Amino acid sequence: IWTECMRIIEKHVNEQSFSTWFTPIQPARIDGSVLTIQVPSQFFYEWLEDNYVDVLKLAIKTVLGSNGRLEYAVVVDKGNSNNQPYMVSYPQGVSHPATKKKKEAMAAAAHSPFDLSSLDEQTTLQSNLSSTYTFNSFIEGDCNRLARSAGFAVANKPGITSFNPLMVYGGVGLGKTHLVQAIGNEIKNGPEDKFVLYVSSEKFVNQFMDAIKDGNIKSFTNFYMQVDVLIIDDIQFFAGKGRTQEMFFHIFNHLHQNKRQIIMTSDCAPKDLMGLEERLLSRFKWGLTADLQMPDFETRIAIIRKKMQSEGIDIPNNVIEYLAYTVDTNVRELEGVMISLIAHASLNRVEISLDLAKTIMKNIVKDIETEVSIEYIQKSCAEYYGIKVEDLKAKTRKKEIVIARQVAMYFSKEFTNHSLKSIGYHFGGRDHSTVIHAVQSVNDLMETDTSFRNAVQEQKKQFKIRSY
Ligand code: ADP
Ligand code: MG
Repeated sequence: IWTECMRIIEKHVNEQSFSTWFTPIQPARIDGSVLTIQVPSQFFYEWLEDNYVDVLKLAIKTVLGSNGRLEYAVVVDKGNSNNQPYMVSYPQGVSHPATKKKKEAMAAAAHSPFDLSSLDEQTTLQSNLSSTYTFNSFIEGDCNRLARSAGFAVANKPGITSFNPLMVYGGVGLGKTHLVQAIGNEIKNGPEDKFVLYVSSEKFVNQFMDAIKDGNIKSFTNFYMQVDVLIIDDIQFFAGKGRTQEMFFHIFNHLHQNKRQIIMTSDCAPKDLMGLEERLLSRFKWGLTADLQMPDFETRIAIIRKKMQSEGIDIPNNVIEYLAYTVDTNVRELEGVMISLIAHASLNRVEISLDLAKTIMKNIVKDIETEVSIEYIQKSCAEYYGIKVEDLKAKTRKKEIVIARQVAMYFSKEFTNHSLKSIGYHFGGRDHSTVIHAVQSVNDLMETDTSFRNAVQEQKKQFKIRSY
């Protein structure tokens, strides 16, 4: 009967929920139209009741008819001496006042002695910090200045600055994990003896699930509540996980009240964190929120230099510039390109050169434009002058557009092998004399107008680097 129920349930919940919440259930007995299922803990029972009442009802009624009812047998004390599970039964749909539920659950969990070994070994013994993530290896730039200096302040006075919690957010590969681990390492290596713990949100959720499964909530909370510095990475992973958020909320409050430091990261601004409870989000505002942006060109150069230096590798400046120009997505990708560049060079016993860098770039970053094409020039000029690419090809004679169009033609002449005729064709079918005129006008204007000249030269750098 239970197998049949499971088959129905399986169709209504996703795979992960199914294996987490339903596979551990054992059928206990059937008594007329009342099916009793055995669940591993009080929390498990509550969770099922809170989240899966409807699907359970549906399954029971389908299999046992409209009189079908479900009862739970909760294994209260797994850790007692004779190892005999002691059962408490609840009929389905009986709601317990929240406080009572919690007391019971805590009482149930308290039966097992405070037992750290049941949590993941690593977390109990270590901080989970990687020693390569330090402040020293974290290059500073406009992109990260606030986050970095707030992080530094926190590292020197954990728990007592006004940056509690410290929330660092930013897109993938922009250095969140690096920065928060650097804070952790700095504190760990500092003068005070602090218990620093780094944990990904995903791991936190999994540990919590296991704690529920094993009736170990108490040791789970106790463990987290004794931490001096809690670093919790990628908090967006808590979205939609109500129980985890509730648990985290309690841990958060406890730590904060006791002046312990909390550091979090997220892939977006707190206000955009969908699926996180308001009370949790409002707590985040107590401290400081700082973002990480994509490093600018100069900072990217510094990052590449530092990385190459730490690897003990020399690479030509033009290669460094080329990489810094072309990889403008995130730092992780930049490092990926560097690593394959080094790997290729050593594997094939060749020097790291611009040609090699270009080949690699074409292979790994498929959609990146490594050549200067007319399309690329048009796109980049349109962007630079804040107009649309179509405007460059249209008949418009507005002054700003005419200038942008002439500059784009000028670059096309300089950086591509297209004939004057072909260039004209790409600019809305203009003839070759228009292109000659454009090139002439740009040259003239550069002589008389310094700021125009500077602008053109700045843009030119970008094309030059691509067309080495
Ligand atoms: P996130 O956690 O935001 O996805 P990571 O912290 O994992 O990003 O960073 C990706 C890679 O980029 C890491 O190897 C990290 O060391 C490096 N990185 C990011 N920002 C910097 C920086 N400012 N200076 C040096 N390395 C950086
Ligand atoms: Mg990360």
